[in-house]
Amino acid sequence: MEIRKRLTYQFIAIVALILFLSSLAIYISFSKSRKEEFYDRLANKARLVAQMLIDIDEINADLLKKIEKNNPLSLPNEKIVIFDYLNNQIYSSDETNVLKIPENYIDKVRIEEKIRYIQKPYEILGEFYTSEFDRIVVFAAATDIFGINKLKRLRLILFVVFISGLFIIYFAGHVFAARALNPVTNIILQVNSIGITNLDQRIDEGNGTDELARLAKTFNGMLHRLESAFKIQKNFIANASHELRTPLTAISGQIEVLLMKDRKTGEYQETLISVLDDMRNLNHLANKLLLLAQASSETTEITFTNLRIDDTLWNSRSEIIKRKPEYSITISFSENITDEGNFTIYGNELLLKTVIINLIDNACKYSPDKSATIFVDTNNKKLVIHFIDKGIGIPTDDVKMIFQPFYRAKNAMGERGHGLGLSLVDKIISQHGGKIELTTEVNSGSDFMIYLPLPSKF
Ligand code: ADP
Repeated sequence: MEIRKRLTYQFIAIVALILFLSSLAIYISFSKSRKEEFYDRLANKARLVAQMLIDIDEINADLLKKIEKNNPLSLPNEKIVIFDYLNNQIYSSDETNVLKIPENYIDKVRIEEKIRYIQKPYEILGEFYTSEFDRIVVFAAATDIFGINKLKRLRLILFVVFISGLFIIYFAGHVFAARALNPVTNIILQVNSIGITNLDQRIDEGNGTDELARLAKTFNGMLHRLESAFKIQKNFIANASHELRTPLTAISGQIEVLLMKDRKTGEYQETLISVLDDMRNLNHLANKLLLLAQASSETTEITFTNLRIDDTLWNSRSEIIKRKPEYSITISFSENITDEGNFTIYGNELLLKTVIINLIDNACKYSPDKSATIFVDTNNKKLVIHFIDKGIGIPTDDVKMIFQPFYRAKNAMGERGHGLGLSLVDKIISQHGGKIELTTEVNSGSDFMIYLPLPSKF
């Protein structure tokens, strides 16, 4: 069911209940007070007649009947019956004998002093009356025509008010619910109008304070994140194709120039070496792209094992020196590490090797002396590996960007690179539950620190 309808029905149910209960309370209290008032009048009448019959000697039953017959203050349908102490009827204005007064009722009046009962259309009051001379039982009956009519009218008014109230509440509830939900409908329309082509569009946040404004803000936050992710993806594809095209254009250009005329063997060799270099570069780029795609994909399953990080460091060092013998790499360990177990971490050897090789390669590549120092330490149940160099450093503006794919700092253009290594490192380290930080100063050097969690038993 639509929220609008549900709200309206709930609103109606609550108000109908309140209206019904208050109408019932009004009706019951009015009906009670009518009854009390009418019985009071009956009692007064009964007392008056009894007094006249008993206390005034000159008045006997026949005279009293005559007086009462023409009494303009008599109640509608009034009938009075009086019994003496032997239950003999000594007075009755009920000429047609319609009132039924069982003998046990007369006795009951004597015991209880006062009884009330109904014999439609009469309401009857029985009262015990005593005086110096006599002890009699008086029954007074009448029909409360005015009171009953008033009660009927009240019932009708309450019923009409209840039904028309329900109608008014139904329409008012409908209008209010629609008005309250209007902003939601607006948000739905606005969200529906946003697609891939207009991801920069934002939803109106209204007054900015209520729940709907918070909902709109949440949507806008999500749109902002989607837009950034989309931009990054778009840039990534543009950058990747650019990086792939550059060496391919260089290769085809070199081959075309070479084929323009006959060349000497040396020239062919020279061009082929250059082409091979470009091909290696291309291969290197393709490998990094593949690794980045694997690291970014959540479906790729990575197998983790317990491994000795010192072994991985030494192996990576040997591997990189084999490829770049001009590099000088020193590895040292903190005195904090007293137990061999401090070297054991839970991770994937191949991926961690990629991290180490990338960071060593950067440290040496961006340092004029082509050297790097690796320092292993522990800190709060974490293993910290520093990759320190005394190289060109990174300008402050570039620091926050270098983990984005294809981003290269302004001062790094003299060296070959694609700007993919650090984003790969960042992804792999977070897959291992760690983090990467750096301190750097232009022309003084950099210190890249990776933090990896140590298994808790150590
Ligand atoms: P690449 O080195 O292939 O350009 P990376 O992703 O490894 O790509 O690094 C991104 C950028 O970060 C580099 O282009 C460079 O500007 C900067 N950088 C990384 N490491 C260092 C370092 N040790 N010293 C100076 N700059 C660095």
